[in-house]
Amino acid sequence: MDGVYVLLIWVKRKRRIRIGKLGPLVFMRGLYFYVGRALDGLEARIERHLRKSKKHFWHIDYLLEYSEILGIIYVWTSHGKSECKIAYNLGKRFKLIENFGSSDCKCKSHLFFKPMQIKKHLCKGAPVATNRERRPNGVRERRGRETVSAPG
Ligand SMILES: [Zn+2]
Repeated sequence: MDGVYVLLIWVKRKRRIRIGKLGPLVFMRGLYFYVGRALDGLEARIERHLRKSKKHFWHIDYLLEYSEILGIIYVWTSHGKSECKIAYNLGKRFKLIENFGSSDCKCKSHLFFKPMQIKKHLCKGAPVATNRERRPNGVRERRGRETVSAPG
């Protein structure tokens, strides 16, 4: 299924990272938001992002080698424009890393940045718990609740 997602990424300390063809960029310590879209395979894409060893293909692959995914927000949608709309809105609030992840669209960037400190103990238990919980399975999350939406 198609979907749009935002990765919440933590960069522990200031670091220079070579981001493919973009070249070397300096990443400050802080929280990063990366907006992405997966056509026909949102689960696979998210699992790929979570995997540590992989071939570098997208800009985000280079950054993830030196950072940590704190959380993932995702939405099942086939509405192609949502990805760039989210990017546009994040760009109004946060600094951006120019041209990152936006080679295929007209956005200035798909990576946004908030310099901040996170206390270690707050990070630890929070985001990535078990494989099971990590699975982006919208259906499972809804189990047990009654369906209120009507078709159409
Ligand atoms: Zn875009």
